[in-house]
Amino acid sequence: MVAHTPTLFASVALVATIMAFCLILVAQYNQRDGVLTTGVGLLAHAAAYVCYTLYGHAPLWLTYGAANTLLSIALGYYAISVYRIRDLTVPWLPVFSLPLVMSVLMALLIESLELRMLAASLVLILQCLLIVRLAYRYSEPGGRAQVLLIIGGSISLIGLGMRVVAILLGGATEMQYNVSNLTQTISVSIGTATVMMYSLGLVLLSKERSESKLQHMAHRDVLTGMLNRRAILERFSDELEHAHLARTSLAVALIDIDHFKQINDAYGHLAGDSVLVHCARHLSRRLRHSDIIGRYGGEEFLVLLPSTDTAGALAVLDALRVSLAHTPAAVDGQSIPVRFSAGLWCGIPEAGDSTAKLIAKADVALYDAKASGRNTVCLSPAGPADSAACANDSLEVPG
Ligand code: GH3
Ligand code: MG
Ligand code: MG
Repeated sequence: MVAHTPTLFASVALVATIMAFCLILVAQYNQRDGVLTTGVGLLAHAAAYVCYTLYGHAPLWLTYGAANTLLSIALGYYAISVYRIRDLTVPWLPVFSLPLVMSVLMALLIESLELRMLAASLVLILQCLLIVRLAYRYSEPGGRAQVLLIIGGSISLIGLGMRVVAILLGGATEMQYNVSNLTQTISVSIGTATVMMYSLGLVLLSKERSESKLQHMAHRDVLTGMLNRRAILERFSDELEHAHLARTSLAVALIDIDHFKQINDAYGHLAGDSVLVHCARHLSRRLRHSDIIGRYGGEEFLVLLPSTDTAGALAVLDALRVSLAHTPAAVDGQSIPVRFSAGLWCGIPEAGDSTAKLIAKADVALYDAKASGRNTVCLSPAGPADSAACANDSLEVPG
């Protein structure tokens, strides 16, 4: 079916205007999430297509030169939106150098049908490639936003490729904006798909971004940036189930900073916060990639060591104890010594073992560690008649 080309342009302009209006309206509620720049891009897209509808009835500088520059600006804004959504520094100059090149080329080549058509298509192809690259790089792999943006970009590239091939085969006059034929119908209809996919893709990208920010906020401790209590308990539940089913050993350690109240009292609460950040970083950096650590409470950390036996877990915890004791926190030019005590439970979880039950066992061992003088790691007794095994003398600690 061959459609009337100017009417097709008008319909794309209408769709883009409606979408631009909606996005610019909702962007008032959040100016920094990329929705506003997507809306501005759609507005430029709509304006470009309005200019195309006038082809043959108004001067070429408007219906071709300005139209293609506006379309190039629209693609520039779509690219900018990706940077905005991802909270990256926006490279305005490099991105908008292509619309600038477009306007210069249009001014120079406006009188030459083939050359101006080729130049416009090639600049737009470069911009679509940039959008596809940005989508590939900055959206969730395989996510809905990435799929839509890459399909949208690829469809535009097909449409533009068709134009280039037609021009190179000598069909430039047949590809003018006031001519209606099958190639034009397909090529311009692709414009509608592009507008919808780019705008929807960018809105989804923005949504994905806010969801991942919320997810991060819900699972991270604000002060230390490590897993918070909820997240570490969720991970614990998973590890417990896995260790039970796979019959592998799991080590659970509760770490509590020694005399932390005294640190707060001596140096102030803010310095105390910095000491906690120091401890969190120090401990996190010294664990294996497969180990998990989170802030369980005020100055308490929960450590999970999957596939680790008792001897291994005791060695890891004691090495952490010694290395932290040797690394005082540097706060405002002061060196604040910091020690911890830890209670450890280790074994192959049984069917009745819950996270609460194992934490309670580690807590009992922690109590023993505190009672035996602090700066100590104690292992939870295997049976009710056993006593806790503690280690605190593997290395002398200064202070
Ligand atoms: P112990 O050796 O027995 O563990 O002594 P402690 O002083 O560490 O005693 P306890 O564990 O009961 O006290 C923890 C203190 O940690 C109490 C609380 O004021 C402080 N604290 C908890 N959360 C924070 C925090 O986010 N920042 C700071 N600066 N202090 C905190
Ligand atoms: Mg405590
Ligand atoms: Mg404490």
